[in-house]
Amino acid sequence: MTEKQNIRHLSLEELQEQFLELEEPRFRAAQIWQWLWQKGAPGFHEMTNLPKAFREKLESHYDVYRMSVSDRQLSTDKTIKCGFRLYDGEFVEGVLIPQESRMTACISSQVGCSLTCSFCATARLPRKRNLFFDEIYDQVDMINRMATESYGVHLSNIVFMGMGEPLLNYSQVMKAIERITAEDGLGMSPKRITVSTAGIAKMIKKLGDDDVKFNLAVSLHAANDEKRNKIMPINETNSLGALSEALLYFYDKTGTRVTFEYVMLQDENDTPKDAEELAAFAKILPSKINLIEYNPIENGIYQKSSGNAMHRFKDLLEQKGCIVNIRRSRGQDIDAACGQLANKQLNPVI
Ligand code: SF4
Repeated sequence: MTEKQNIRHLSLEELQEQFLELEEPRFRAAQIWQWLWQKGAPGFHEMTNLPKAFREKLESHYDVYRMSVSDRQLSTDKTIKCGFRLYDGEFVEGVLIPQESRMTACISSQVGCSLTCSFCATARLPRKRNLFFDEIYDQVDMINRMATESYGVHLSNIVFMGMGEPLLNYSQVMKAIERITAEDGLGMSPKRITVSTAGIAKMIKKLGDDDVKFNLAVSLHAANDEKRNKIMPINETNSLGALSEALLYFYDKTGTRVTFEYVMLQDENDTPKDAEELAAFAKILPSKINLIEYNPIENGIYQKSSGNAMHRFKDLLEQKGCIVNIRRSRGQDIDAACGQLANKQLNPVI
């Protein structure tokens, strides 16, 4: 980061204190705060109700470091994928998914990912750094503006299912959600936010201790340690036993039903035995299961399960009393679907 302070990393109280030192009236902090968190000002120049001399003073002390949209692709199903350029030249991707009843933003929490899920394109990008909370916030803010401009509707839902493992960037994700849900931020309900994890048991317990109000999704993809180790190597250190213990703890503290995500891979995790194991695992606590159509990636090792196989699998789970939905792939033609985000515009040969 350059020598100028990121003004959005200051709390309102800190801003007020610093403005006192700059011999500016206290109410200026509230004015700036609104420009920064609600009006989406890209810099001080755009804060038109502030005196020019004050804007220049701000410019000499601070920067806003707002990200910019570097690339935008529209899918035939109206999904929009955005590349975001960060202040230090790094890139992340976010996706706007319009559906009949909801408008969802899928956002990233890290540049790249340190985990190595074998079905995921992001896994091929090394984790370069965690996103700051204002960068996570900006993705939501910008995708929200895109939703209104393109489809005349505000965002209704946010899912942390883009690049990165959100629970390995815990403090910044929590701060971003605080700003996204704050009345003086985007004012969204935490019930409309889902944080999706590959299953970091220790941090799931921390979510319980912090009594979070948003939803939790767990990328499960197999309910048998041997298979899950292969699909998601994080399972080697966060086994299904540790995961179930953490989820029970989370549920005990929050009372929130958990969603299990299960990407369907032909002959890997779609057999009747897999369904049985999944049902047994999912029923340890109130939950629902999303069966996700797999999106093939370049040089990938998996094939997607057929439509028939997915329906058979769903029936078996329902016979065991599970709540199950099938999630069709969105934005597949522009590599915007689940597990496909890989900054391909920048890394054409991955
Ligand atoms: S699925 Fe998620 S946690 Fe796994 S490698 Fe991809 S981005 Fe990382």
